Amino acid sequence: MDSYSLRYPYDDLPAHGETREVAPGIKWLQMPLSFALDHINLYLLEDGDGWAVVDTGIRGERTQGYWNTIFERELDGRPVSRVIVTHMHPDHLGQAGWICRRFGAPLLMSRTEYYYARTFSSENHRQLPPEAIAFYQRGGVPEGILQEITSRGWGNFSNNVEPMPVGYLRLVDGQVLRIGGRAWRVVTGSGHSPEHVCLYCEELDVLISGDQVLPRITSNVSVNANEPEEDPLAYWLASHRKFLDLPDTAFVLPSHNRPFYGLHARLRYLIDHHEDRMLACEEKCTEPQTAYDLLPVMFSRELDSFQTMLALGECMAHLHCLMNMGRLERMLHQDGRYRYRSIDPGLSTRAHPGSHEDPDAAPLMV
Ligand SMILES: [Zn+2]
Repeated sequence: MDSYSLRYPYDDLPAHGETREVAPGIKWLQMPLSFALDHINLYLLEDGDGWAVVDTGIRGERTQGYWNTIFERELDGRPVSRVIVTHMHPDHLGQAGWICRRFGAPLLMSRTEYYYARTFSSENHRQLPPEAIAFYQRGGVPEGILQEITSRGWGNFSNNVEPMPVGYLRLVDGQVLRIGGRAWRVVTGSGHSPEHVCLYCEELDVLISGDQVLPRITSNVSVNANEPEEDPLAYWLASHRKFLDLPDTAFVLPSHNRPFYGLHARLRYLIDHHEDRMLACEEKCTEPQTAYDLLPVMFSRELDSFQTMLALGECMAHLHCLMNMGRLERMLHQDGRYRYRSIDPGLSTRAHPGSHEDPDAAPLMV
């Protein structure tokens, strides 16, 4: 057994339209997704005369159909009392507005996630904006792939997210929510999304982790065209160290795959995984490289144009973190592409990384 081993109390997911009680007053359900991930986990928390919903599934009739079944059969005739959304990604936020309107329930989110989502909801570019084209060109994306990316358009967020309530209740790091007589503490993380909310209940020793801590797959941590100089991996690594303050005994309820035990092992794995990838990039950059050149160092599989977009953002997250640590420098060449070069002349004498390679790791929009 290696030091990263996790323990999964359940062998399978609940069937669509059904729930499974995983702790007192906590029901687990899943909703289908149509992209690389085939499901998202959602949770119901008993909340006095109603149920608090944590995350909602992507917009669409299929998800709404399963929700209707849940509402009819799984809530003991009680209404949804509030809708808590961990972060703005459409698989989490997609149905929130629909559920809030149906039950007159409030939406609870962190401020950054709420306003990011409101901004993306109102974007209606059909063309890739010039900032995004420049972003990919500087990243070294070849013309043919850039054209494929361009043809996909821009601003599909509102297709996957129901219109949002114009008001919300703000969640803040450290805040304690009383849900069904139990105290749930808001613990925020950043890097996968800017102000991701997790919920920890000390009484039950349960952590609802969203995409902040996932077993098996690694969450996408990307630099994006709207904030092209950001360093999300630094936030991500800092968040993982912050989450090590939570008890290792916590039962973790994630948004994808199955609930698990082994919080600290998973956090340590993820920290090591990203540090290995940074070292691999740094070693390759003894000769100047574009971000696009480095994709094979980061991802061993073939990437289509959509995956290339995500992978490039993830690669740049590692490069920006290395630059801010003083381990890489960046030059803008005459061809309009950034190239990165490692600063440490002793790199080639180090052992090659890769001991923490995760065969399931993929660039995923989760
Ligand atoms: Zn996500």
